[in-house]
Amino acid sequence: MDWVERVGNLRQWAQNGVRAPHKPLLMLYALGSFQRDPLGSMRYSEIEHELSELLEDYGPTRRTSPSYPFHHLVSDGVWEVRTDSGAGSPGTGVRVLRESGARGQLAGGLRAALSHDPELLGQLAQMLLDRHFPPSVHPDLTAAVGLDLETVDGARGAAGPASRRRRAAELRRDVLVAYEYRCAFCGFDGAIGRVPVGLEAAHVRWWAFQGPDDLANCLCLCSLHHKLFDRGVLGLDPGRRITVSREFVGRSPAARRQVLDLTGRELTGPQHGSARVAPAHITWHTAQVFRGEPRMAEGRAAPVQRSGTP
Ligand SMILES: [Zn+2]
Repeated sequence: MDWVERVGNLRQWAQNGVRAPHKPLLMLYALGSFQRDPLGSMRYSEIEHELSELLEDYGPTRRTSPSYPFHHLVSDGVWEVRTDSGAGSPGTGVRVLRESGARGQLAGGLRAALSHDPELLGQLAQMLLDRHFPPSVHPDLTAAVGLDLETVDGARGAAGPASRRRRAAELRRDVLVAYEYRCAFCGFDGAIGRVPVGLEAAHVRWWAFQGPDDLANCLCLCSLHHKLFDRGVLGLDPGRRITVSREFVGRSPAARRQVLDLTGRELTGPQHGSARVAPAHITWHTAQVFRGEPRMAEGRAAPVQRSGTP
């Protein structure tokens, strides 16, 4: 059994660039659980809340019940569910999963393979991260599922194989030059001596979702704005103005200055003659990553309540 191939090909209902990370998130959660307790199983009613938060924090905006991946992952052969009355999942109903005492764990064959091969856990986790999430999100997500990839073999770091790392380094240089070593959102241009620091090339449409490695799909962003862009706090409207999610909350002057005040602002760069971000990639980011509705810019007229009309 090639577990890497099997976990790499989880059946998903969505294609064509639509994000459906529910099964991958449950797999990462289960790998984290296995790492802490190889023999334990997870009772649906006990993990429901945490799994629900994980789907909300790292999935697309449309809501999905944790009961769906809990039941449907069984058909991929990597996960098994038992109830108080025996083997097999009782279905996707939240109530029946709770009341039947449903418990899930990685499939027996996979648990045996993980115990036998100390590199497999790291390989599987890294593959799931690479295929479904951009590198800036990996550390937060592994922490959220309780996975420790620092101490295991097999995880090769977010940058991937050597050819991919080389390409990423070239792209970063091209993007930083195009934006003249400034964050496209805030203008940050820090350097140590002549070496830029805290500036990164950000994909608009994620590389994991067929986002191309070219200037029309990239922005030069500072580390903070890169993270917020990949987490859907920041986005772009069709006119390439910066949008800020209504779901983002920050009360300090720093949060206002660095995030809220960006609302409606135009991008800084790229320099004349460089490709600007293509509308199709902005559309993908808005639909798949941006969280909920954008805030309105302050000072822009809010819809006026007319007096005298009912
Ligand atoms: Zn910035």
